[in-house]
Amino acid sequence: MSNLSLRERDATTIAQIGKLRFSPLSVVGGRGNRLIEEGGRSLLDLSGSAGPAILGYGHPAIVEAVAASIRDMAGASLLLYPNEPAVSLAERLLAITPGNGERRVWFGHSGSDANDCAVRVLQAATGRSRFISFIGSYHGNLSGSMGISGHTAMTHTLPRPGVLLLPYPDPFRPQFSAEAVLALLDYQFETTCPPHQVAAVFIEPLMSDGGLIVPPPGFLKALQERCRRHGIRIVVDEVKVGLARSGMMHCFQHEGLTPDLVVFGKGIGGGLPLSAVIGPKEIMDHAPAFALQTTAGNPVAASAGNAVLKTIDREGLVERSARVGTLFSEALRALAAKHEIIGDVRGRGLAIGVDLVKDRSTREPVPATTTAKIIYRGYELGAAFTYVGLKANVLEFMPPLTLIEDEVTEGAAIVDQAIADVTAGKVSDADVVSFMMW
Ligand SMILES: *Cc1c(COP(=O)(O)O)cnc(C)c1O
Repeated sequence: MSNLSLRERDATTIAQIGKLRFSPLSVVGGRGNRLIEEGGRSLLDLSGSAGPAILGYGHPAIVEAVAASIRDMAGASLLLYPNEPAVSLAERLLAITPGNGERRVWFGHSGSDANDCAVRVLQAATGRSRFISFIGSYHGNLSGSMGISGHTAMTHTLPRPGVLLLPYPDPFRPQFSAEAVLALLDYQFETTCPPHQVAAVFIEPLMSDGGLIVPPPGFLKALQERCRRHGIRIVVDEVKVGLARSGMMHCFQHEGLTPDLVVFGKGIGGGLPLSAVIGPKEIMDHAPAFALQTTAGNPVAASAGNAVLKTIDREGLVERSARVGTLFSEALRALAAKHEIIGDVRGRGLAIGVDLVKDRSTREPVPATTTAKIIYRGYELGAAFTYVGLKANVLEFMPPLTLIEDEVTEGAAIVDQAIADVTAGKVSDADVVSFMMW
């Protein structure tokens, strides 16, 4: 077609508005836990392609399920006809997700549309139009899900009217303690945000894009209690950290939450576009033809979802994620002895963040260029990972849950070398100028 590289063709065709390019990596394939770069070099994937690659690339369970289902497609739309893969997937999700009473499942294509659906149906079914969410939270990029998000990437648009954004207490930088946030909520309820106007609170049980923040113990439970008292529904967004990633099947289980609605995305499709919302029948059955997307719940994506859930079970990925995640966290924590820049290593299971600081005593974040340089050098040394955080100072590790022990050693060694090289000034500002994304 042309002599240009994939990267060059990407630059002149794909819109910037849909890009988060943290390094020059352009991929032509993937195998296991590795991405194959244009030119043939293979890199260890510590990003999981931002979460969907929960089983890595080309996992036989997904390949076979998708191939079988596309050969004999039971229609292409769940709207008009039930199909076996979608109904089985709904049954499986209901079976593995704790909850009370009769519940129903809705399918979509992405975490964004799933949170969007939750917002719309909650408003319609409860007659309440306000929502509570957190500064730093990311619930998606469609108008409904964006309107209840509090990430800096959302400041391109205005929040939804009536949304109450609370600070998310961060144990590493305790600018707002759990008690202070709860007191602020009480004050809001007593004054400008009457609780009977609030339909639901949207919770990330581990704040991912906001900086891999594990909330202080008991905070979310106390929040849940306060909201329940006023009939405010609890929505847990498990899109990035759910389905075995945290070392439990659901991340909210670490917090002892009993959500009304649970939102799934990313990993559930194993790389195919798939998301789901589980919620009480009285909300999810609000009205027919209310949240329609023609190809949502299509049998091919649903088959991938079934393959993901079966593989989590068959390969013991909940336990593996807890065990390998602990090894990886320990390996990264050990690097802190050598590298002053590492302020904190935190997370759950295989959702791990490394918080980079200018100064360990003040915990002031490093500038974004420093983080970007470590990503860049990591890419040169053979590993793919990204960064998150409102100050762009947190390395994010979200590898496939199939990561093996040797790959933990390999990954930690690359991170070690990348930090050493960046600290020694081996990467320039010019190298990373086009990879500063948020
Ligand atoms: C990525 C993400 C979303 C949005 O999912 P998309 O598939 O990008 O639409 C929603 N919530 C959380 C917590 C996420 O990390």
